[in-house]
Amino acid sequence: MRLRVLGSNGTYPTPGQPCSGYLVEAGGTRIMLDAGPGTVAAWQEADPAGHLDALVVTHAHPDHCSDVFHLFNLLRFGPNSRSGLPALAPDGVAAALAAFLGVGEDHAFHRVFAWRTVAPGDSVQVGEAALAFAATQHQLPTLGVSVSVPGRRLVYSADTGPGGGLPALAAGADLLLCEATLQGEGADGGWPYHLSAAQAGTLAREAGVGRLLLTHLAPMLDPARSAAEAAATFGGPVQWAAPGMEVEV
Ligand SMILES: [Zn+2]
Repeated sequence: MRLRVLGSNGTYPTPGQPCSGYLVEAGGTRIMLDAGPGTVAAWQEADPAGHLDALVVTHAHPDHCSDVFHLFNLLRFGPNSRSGLPALAPDGVAAALAAFLGVGEDHAFHRVFAWRTVAPGDSVQVGEAALAFAATQHQLPTLGVSVSVPGRRLVYSADTGPGGGLPALAAGADLLLCEATLQGEGADGGWPYHLSAAQAGTLAREAGVGRLLLTHLAPMLDPARSAAEAAATFGGPVQWAAPGMEVEV
């Protein structure tokens, strides 16, 4: 299994750094996790042929889903047009996106994407990949995602505070792609809906994951400092999920 980082900025994009979006290649199956601003262009760069088997939208915050609109237009009008792309999201996300477009159930938005509501505890097979979902601690319904193939498993935190279902979902994962929005002393108590780098490291240690990739850093932060803070509490290998990075899981 392979993970490609399309973008990893938290909150807003900066030049050359899209927001959250990741391409998972599980055998011959390709799944896009989140579609933050800038990620659809990065996905086209990564795969000009546009092979995609499913989209997962973890929650309705724009830094995780605003490029759904551009993916819709690309799939509808672009060179590799198609319909029926499975799109998995928490309850209400598809309706919220459709409402922004002002379209009803009969619109192409509901044909280009085959929307499917997923809930905490659900398991979904997409091609060669087994997906599982858990509710995270965030301001609105948000799902952490586990993607596994026989013998290997990665878990993506989406956005989360230190509680919720992520710690259990992450237990024993080979790779944890974990948000680390905050940094530095005092960050741990500052915001219940996001993690500091140190908290991400603690979560990774307690979950017994093999490797930690930090993502969703607030754009002004120094990624090297976040990686050092997470390494101090994790005790295992830590990297920042730089845009364009590819890792074998
Ligand atoms: Zn969020």
